[in-house]
Amino acid sequence: NRQWILKRRPQGAPGAADLELRETPIGPLADGEILVRNLYLSLDPTNRLWMSDRAQYLPPVGVGDVMRGGTIGVVEASRSDRFRVGDLVLPSTGGWELYSIANERGSRRIAPQAGVPLTAYLSVLGATGLTAYFGLLDICKPREGEVLAVSAAAGAVGSIVGQIGRIKGAQVVGIAGGPEKCGWLTETLGFDSAIDYRNEDVGVALDRLYPTGIDMNFENVGGPIMDAVFSRLRKDGRMALCGMISAYNEDGPMPGPRDFGRILMQRLTVRGFIVIDYLRQAPGAFADLSSWIAEGRLAWKDHVVDGLEEAVAALDLLFTGGNDGKLVVRVSPE
Ligand code: NDP
Repeated sequence: NRQWILKRRPQGAPGAADLELRETPIGPLADGEILVRNLYLSLDPTNRLWMSDRAQYLPPVGVGDVMRGGTIGVVEASRSDRFRVGDLVLPSTGGWELYSIANERGSRRIAPQAGVPLTAYLSVLGATGLTAYFGLLDICKPREGEVLAVSAAAGAVGSIVGQIGRIKGAQVVGIAGGPEKCGWLTETLGFDSAIDYRNEDVGVALDRLYPTGIDMNFENVGGPIMDAVFSRLRKDGRMALCGMISAYNEDGPMPGPRDFGRILMQRLTVRGFIVIDYLRQAPGAFADLSSWIAEGRLAWKDHVVDGLEEAVAALDLLFTGGNDGKLVVRVSPE
């Protein structure tokens, strides 16, 4: 097997000294287990949190352990009645590795839809799509005509959030880095407006575009971008706190909005959420996402990097904005 091992907890951006690619033997399967050859590995901002020992929603990856990660792969050996050799599967325990041994419980078979690439099951039809769907619909609860501001809007989650917001009749403003990403939001995805935070002050732009304020904030970034949106949330506004990527490469508490009292004065609802809490409701969400794709109302991009050996370097793309859509690594040929 080939596996990325966490050697030490990174300080700042993870680098070559923090993880090591090792050749390892593959252990025997126990009853109920399957051997999966991974085709694609999902790289996610949360991978950086798992490398750290800060308090979080899952146990951190242990130093000396295989790096955890979501994968899609093909069953190569099975001691399960539920999975056959050749099945496509999202293994219960994927990792930054060529082969994963997974339990039949918690592994999900994929019946690929015609015309849908396998990477989609790690993006729009995977955890990314669910995150966008439930964070927006369960927490922000968009109503016709309301204003929705999305940060990291050209990213995997943000781009889907904005399109669902449009489907629900909201006015959507996306905040993203650079003219290409902003152009994609307004010209291809149908966002009402986009703010290029690298070239424009977000608060000034929001005041110009939406002088009476914002109803919903789907927050992916944290820091000054979050502060600019939060301080413009109007009465009965809602904030879905999905992520704070701007703080993941640092240690210590993640700073919040300065005007905490706004929650009181404007009767805001602010809720953090983790997609794994919604897995039971996933089938209904996948049905909606699939039909929006089929109707041509929902588009997405997957950014594929070749080779497991590139995983550490590729992860950094998420923190520099170098990814163009959902970041995945091609681990082995389909
Ligand atoms: P993306 O595809 O959005 O990639 C990350 C993007 O974040 C980059 O492309 C970059 O876009 C932007 N970014 C990075 N650093 C900064 C910064 N300092 N300031 C402003 N923008 C920055 O990744 P995902 O869609 O996978 O994740 C987006 C967010 O959603 C993350 O915070 C993640 O942790 C969170 N998330 C939460 C889940 C949950 O269950 N709560 C589940 C999945 C994701 P740009 O070029 O525009 O700067």
